[in-house]
Amino acid sequence: MKLKSEKLTIVQKGEVVYFTFPHFDKYNFVKHGFTSKKGGVSDGIYESLNLNFSVGDEHHNVIENYKIIAKALNINFENLVLSNQIHESEIKCVNKSDRGKGITQSRDYEGVDGLITNEPEVALVTLYADCVPLFFLDPVKRVVGLAHAGWKGTVKEIGRKMVDRLVNQYGSNKEDILVGIGPSIGDCCYEVGEEVAQQFKRIKASGNNVFKKGNLKYMLDLWSINKDILIRSGIKENNIVVTDICTNCNKDYLFSHRGHHGKRGGMAAIIQLEVE
Ligand SMILES: [Zn+2]
Repeated sequence: MKLKSEKLTIVQKGEVVYFTFPHFDKYNFVKHGFTSKKGGVSDGIYESLNLNFSVGDEHHNVIENYKIIAKALNINFENLVLSNQIHESEIKCVNKSDRGKGITQSRDYEGVDGLITNEPEVALVTLYADCVPLFFLDPVKRVVGLAHAGWKGTVKEIGRKMVDRLVNQYGSNKEDILVGIGPSIGDCCYEVGEEVAQQFKRIKASGNNVFKKGNLKYMLDLWSINKDILIRSGIKENNIVVTDICTNCNKDYLFSHRGHHGKRGGMAAIIQLEVE
């Protein structure tokens, strides 16, 4: 395999390839992963492990792909709960009664970019194809969360809002919270215009994170901006693992909205607490 990482664990089970965070792997009551393109049944631009129902792929293929990744992660397919992402920063706390929503039954919520649960056997799912997946684990209070942070969610500081929610609703201590920043478009490839760059000056993240390239273009580093936001929110730097895998640089393995010019499937972040 050409894919390499010094930060994440690359897991291969049969044809399925996914990533995990080593600092989460230490806890046997958590299952998690970030998927790749590999190991599914979809064809063409969705080849092969497309997990996004909204990009034009055959519905039955996406369902089959969820069954494949659930099996690889040793999670019950019936436990999956999907977000409804709109590049905002709304966070929903879910429980067992939400299982199946967005996959085998319709959702009774919309505009959800972050999911949290403290109930075992509830598998959170958020979707990606360049945007930044943020994984959260409080191993002391036993709470897990996922947040979708594209540039808009990052400007809206969805990472900080997740931390606030963990503290206020679940009693988490900030120093206990672990965060994983997953595969997404890196500053090697993420060129943005003046308008987007200006948005980041508002959140004081312009310093080292938005590099001027000339012609009023900027290379945006969403990984370090999200890390900065998390540290400013009280998360310990040692508790954050940042990916070294850019979606656009690894188009053979990962769906990249920019890299595939919008013609692409979607990857998922998935996390679930276990009954012990
Ligand atoms: Zn890149």
